[in-house]
Amino acid sequence: MTANHLDYEEYFSRTFGRWTKLWQQMTIPNERVLMLVRWVWSFFLFVSEQLKGDTLMRTLFKNATLVTMNEQRDVIKGDLLVEDANIVALGSNLVESADRIIDVQGDLLIPGLIQTHIHLCQTLFRGQADDLELLDWLKQRIWPLEGGHDPESLYDSARLGIGELFLGGTTTIVDMETVHHTEHAFQAIIDSGIRAISGKCMMDHHDADVPLTLQESTEASLQMSVDLFERFNGAGNGRLQVAFTPRFVISCTDDLLREVARLAKLKKAYVHTHASENRGEIEVVESTRCMRNIVCLEHLGLLGPRTILAHCIWLDDQEKELLVRTQTRIAHCPSSNLKLASGIAAIPQLLAMGAQVSLAADGAPCNNNLDAFIEMRHAALIQKPLHGPTVMPARQVFELATLGGAKAIGREHDLGSLEPGKKADLAVVSLQGLHTWPHEYTDVYAQLVYQAHASDVRLTMVDGQIVMQDRQLKTIDVDVLKPSATASLQRVMQRVGC
Ligand SMILES: [Zn+2]
Repeated sequence: MTANHLDYEEYFSRTFGRWTKLWQQMTIPNERVLMLVRWVWSFFLFVSEQLKGDTLMRTLFKNATLVTMNEQRDVIKGDLLVEDANIVALGSNLVESADRIIDVQGDLLIPGLIQTHIHLCQTLFRGQADDLELLDWLKQRIWPLEGGHDPESLYDSARLGIGELFLGGTTTIVDMETVHHTEHAFQAIIDSGIRAISGKCMMDHHDADVPLTLQESTEASLQMSVDLFERFNGAGNGRLQVAFTPRFVISCTDDLLREVARLAKLKKAYVHTHASENRGEIEVVESTRCMRNIVCLEHLGLLGPRTILAHCIWLDDQEKELLVRTQTRIAHCPSSNLKLASGIAAIPQLLAMGAQVSLAADGAPCNNNLDAFIEMRHAALIQKPLHGPTVMPARQVFELATLGGAKAIGREHDLGSLEPGKKADLAVVSLQGLHTWPHEYTDVYAQLVYQAHASDVRLTMVDGQIVMQDRQLKTIDVDVLKPSATASLQRVMQRVGC
């Protein structure tokens, strides 16, 4: 386990627990003094060890076009200095000493992209569930495949997804895992260096379509979620926040959803679920609960600024007002909504009403990419035939992928823009390709939303750590991952009889 707080606990129980017993057995004062000195010295060594790895590294990015996303939306030709995990300065011709200097060569330095609805557990199943509508897609393909995961296949699936996200400049995700083995996806999050809010999928209401491997009792589902929260929340230097993630209303009992609302409030945790993605889904809610889906979530106590709802396509006026009034977060997934033919969310209207909207790719089998650049492009383009070419302009779309994501997770104070004091989560986007050339007279937001590809990202940094540089992943060994993922998929397919 690499989480600092767990190291700390282990250290104290191992060292001081033993010494405390010795202390109680001692009678000679001099020995007590000696013991006290040793105790203080050990504590000093422990603290200095922790600080040593965290504070020495200074990285200076030179000659960048800084797309700051600060309040004035300044775009600056200049430099940016990172110390430890934070941005400490930016401006023209910064003259600072640094442990490493990276020449950005005039390319774009942007805030790390934030995607607020991902399923790392599904990355392994890319291309296994195409050309279906949501409920068939789930019942015929995704649920059986998720139920076929073993710990290693889930770890591989998560690393595949994270590697792809890093290669496309995504630094933070909100993620829903599957029902079992979630600790292995968490381990991949911790090991890789990504920033994530994630939780185990909760499914305590079953009909014949839910495979036995995903069925769980209300008590077991809640207990597993709480255990994961207690064990992992804040792990990876605070990069992992554990959430409660019921799949959607029709997969859960009211008892579970009410308890999720209570626990999340008690533990100040996020709730992440799907809502009103598909007409069939809301018809089931209306027939079983006798109310609209979003109204049902409100009755169960689940709306609010700590709840992130994926999709929100099939909303009536009352539901839209409810989402705005409660400041419930909306994760807009345009590619997934197109591919599953779910519909086109009324994002321009929701934004005009004051809704909190961010962007995401959803899972690999319904996209089939985890590429924030494609999501930005689609978020802009799908609205234009409906509402005209001026809706969803490029700058507004880029805001949704950066500041919008930061606001969705209550982190606008330290994520979503390039400003001193914020976390060093950022990406360098090359403008050297023919599709972005020449670039001197072009609006940077148009370059980012309409022209750039994920493959233009040259470098990705999370929490001050370079996780991808020159298209090479630094925390994931691709040569090890690829054969392992192939073998993992083979095991899962054999297990589920595909
Ligand atoms: Zn989803």
